[in-house]
Amino acid sequence: MLTLDQDDIILDRHAEDWQSALDLAAQQLSEAGLVTEGYRQGLYDREAQSSTFLGNAIAIPHGTPDSRDHVNRTGVRVIQFPRGVEWHDGNRVHVLVTIAAQSDEHLDILRQLTHVLDREGVAERLAAADSAREIAALLSKAPLEARLDADTLCLNFPASDSLELALAGAARLRQSGCVDNAFVAAIADQQAHPLGQGLWLTSSPVGVQTPALALATPEASFQGPLGTVNGVFCLAAQGSAHRDLLERIMTLLDSRAGETLVGADSATVLSRLAGESASARTATARVLNAHGLHARPAKQLVQVAREQSVPVKVRLAEGGGAAVSAASLTKVIGLGARRGQQLLFSAEGEGADSALSAVCRVVNEGLGEKVAPFEEGREHVAPITEPSVEPLEADVPHLAVAASPGLAIAEAFVMRPPRFDYPERAEQPAEELRRLDSAIEEAGRQLASLIRQAPGGEVSEILSMHEEMLDDPELHEAAREGIREGFSAEAGWWRAIDTAAHAQEMLADRLLAERAADLRDVGRRVLGVLCHVELPTPPERPYILVMDDIGPSDVARLDTRRVQGLLTARGGATAHSAILARALGIPAVVGAGARTMALDNGTELILDGERGRVIPAPSTARRQRAELRLKERERRERDAWEARFEEGRTSDGHRVEVAANLGNTAHTQDAVERGAEGVGLLRTEFIFMAHAQAPDLDTQIAEYRTAAENLDGRPLVARTLDVGGDKPLPYWPVPQEDNPFLGLRGIRLALTKPDILETQLRALLIAGRGCPLRIMLPMVKDVAEFRQARAIFDRLLEQLPEAERATDVQLGVMIEVPSCALLAPSLAAEVDFFSIGTNDLTQYTLAIDRGHSELSAQADGLHPAVLRLIQMAVDAAHAQGKWVGVCGELASDAAAVPVLVGLGVDELSVASRQVPLVKARLRDFDMSEAQRQAALALSQATSEAVREALEAL
Ligand code: PEP
Ligand code: MG
Repeated sequence: MLTLDQDDIILDRHAEDWQSALDLAAQQLSEAGLVTEGYRQGLYDREAQSSTFLGNAIAIPHGTPDSRDHVNRTGVRVIQFPRGVEWHDGNRVHVLVTIAAQSDEHLDILRQLTHVLDREGVAERLAAADSAREIAALLSKAPLEARLDADTLCLNFPASDSLELALAGAARLRQSGCVDNAFVAAIADQQAHPLGQGLWLTSSPVGVQTPALALATPEASFQGPLGTVNGVFCLAAQGSAHRDLLERIMTLLDSRAGETLVGADSATVLSRLAGESASARTATARVLNAHGLHARPAKQLVQVAREQSVPVKVRLAEGGGAAVSAASLTKVIGLGARRGQQLLFSAEGEGADSALSAVCRVVNEGLGEKVAPFEEGREHVAPITEPSVEPLEADVPHLAVAASPGLAIAEAFVMRPPRFDYPERAEQPAEELRRLDSAIEEAGRQLASLIRQAPGGEVSEILSMHEEMLDDPELHEAAREGIREGFSAEAGWWRAIDTAAHAQEMLADRLLAERAADLRDVGRRVLGVLCHVELPTPPERPYILVMDDIGPSDVARLDTRRVQGLLTARGGATAHSAILARALGIPAVVGAGARTMALDNGTELILDGERGRVIPAPSTARRQRAELRLKERERRERDAWEARFEEGRTSDGHRVEVAANLGNTAHTQDAVERGAEGVGLLRTEFIFMAHAQAPDLDTQIAEYRTAAENLDGRPLVARTLDVGGDKPLPYWPVPQEDNPFLGLRGIRLALTKPDILETQLRALLIAGRGCPLRIMLPMVKDVAEFRQARAIFDRLLEQLPEAERATDVQLGVMIEVPSCALLAPSLAAEVDFFSIGTNDLTQYTLAIDRGHSELSAQADGLHPAVLRLIQMAVDAAHAQGKWVGVCGELASDAAAVPVLVGLGVDELSVASRQVPLVKARLRDFDMSEAQRQAALALSQATSEAVREALEAL
């Protein structure tokens, strides 16, 4: 996407007349290497056709299509003329946004500028601005608009209560990548507000990635306890992005259209929400202009619209955008319509029909440009970059979900979702049924061939599951039914897939819900055959595959020699694609948000599958560091693996136990095989999350027993349920909180349900028989909370006969809240051990949300403030003869390991894969060196200074 960058802005220039200004613009583009000399004439030719003055003192010179041969590279130069230049059409220009575009990327810039044109006082501010930053901010800031389109609608849903509808809407938003599970949990906990006419609104700002509005309507309106229900709007709120949409709902209510939504299809619902009344006449026309509805053709359209006797509105036929006046140039350009997109015009009253035919005619005729007909099926509508989505910032680490470990440095290959253009309806059902059958057969052949080529194991298993899904008779029947009702083979099939996937997503079980991605994957395979759509071809060079959400069969198809890493906008660490990436040993970062898809092909990326982060367009220095890390890493991994069963010790023999962090007890055996000397943190909440309801005593015993047995006498440190904050439990919704991380989470939440805590402790004690069992409590803030939990624990120890429970058992606390470290002496007197959760301790000490997409890179556990708290905790514990572990991510940070050991930490608990590497790191230094590094780190003022000082050693 073409974006404005501060370096592209040239301040404080003067030009006597518009020609000198244009010459200067051409010179700047040419000096930047964007164009060759011939482009200057293109700029002049374009001005001769019509002025590029836009409004608000801005002109946007750009070459004619013929002059594109002179463009080396797409780019922009913004030139400020504080004294102004008189343009040839009589307007005064203070800023030239000069565009060198190889195709229609300049529409992105135009779209941004139309927002500027609507704002008052911008011309003066552009003239007076004295920094590039200020100009960039004035020009670039497109207000974020909430999303509403066919994908956020859930119509005719078989629900009989408003909460079910609200959740269906929330699930739609989650499935569209606008929100995460926290949003769904927040909605589950709310009562919808009545809007009138049987419409209800529920909303939350929790877990919102992209502001959006969903609407769920029932199959038939019904009576709820608080009144009629015709539909529930579910709003993912962020800032004021949704204001426009709420106003549109109000307009809909004003026109008494609430009841008409029940039974309506998505086109009708979007039309009502776009502000078109039921009595409006509508007509569509396709944009044929090669470069879309840019300023010049838009002007023509506006002129024709203004000549009509009735007001004409226009919007993009697809999506949920509001209809705007076709007589407003800025609004029409703001649609950002591209070649192939349909414009939907509407008008009311006498003269509406002739107005509509006039505007459609002029669009069909090309709006003053020579146009070629659009060949549906062969030509595809150019993909639109989400208007509100900014690309990831260059050279800045962007945090997401670590799905598969490893480090990759390579260029991005962005696989945009294929676009399937097909008619919704078809005349001859028999022919459509035949087409569907043969497409399903072909898809089956493709899968069979993929299975033959697959490396085996999980890859083949998942592809076989796809084969089963493809053969599902119910799915076939649902599609056939649709076709018999008049849908085309494509529409019938996709409706069947979408309904089934949607039902799957409604399941509380996270793992089952994620299988919806598999269904859609199967669905797209068949659509691909039906529409003759082939996926874009990746480059021959090594690359990092970037996709919205990688379907399992996409992963299975990967050429592992060229794909160095995976990056997805959506998805979670438990998605099949992530499981497969791990099975194939490809580093993967998932759930990185919609901005990922705005990356340009060829952008260099550093992908860190361990820390779950991606850095686009890294600086040379950062790249070199990453390359060194990569090489060093490969060597160290080999050596470390060889020595993984040695005990964790420093080079002078000081013992530091190295244990594994687990979320799934089934991985215990694997941890032991990687050299883990125990489990140092069992995140039991993941066991709870994997069940649709709180697991009962026997289920929990079986889970914990798996860990205890596989550990074969090694210690098991299990943490009691730590939900709330970023880890909601669907069946245990927490009331909406403004700051969930400062709210009901960890032990605070567990103590509100002592019976659940008690069952868990009981299960742990019974399952831990014969095993050194350490139980720890998360998020404790002081000794009072510990005592409450200890009372339950002591009662259980008394109740359970020794023969039936663990006897080598300790009860400790996690040090995650700064108050706990500050008061460590009072706690150390009563607990058996401390385990320091540096992830949370860092977030609470530095007041940085650990998941914050921009700030979390600064949430560095090596901050001296965090280290001092660790020192306090260790000193207090050792003074009482208690041991201290570290189980946050810091424990596997190579720079931090000597510092932690120097501070006196007795145990490090890390991801299983890291165990051999951490043991190897311990062998690098002796205890006196560790103490020296700890003292050095403590004496610094910032985390950057700590890292620099340690690196300089
Ligand atoms: C921590 O906070 O460091 C920790 C280990 O707990 P979690 O990451 O599960 O919150
Ligand atoms: Mg924690």
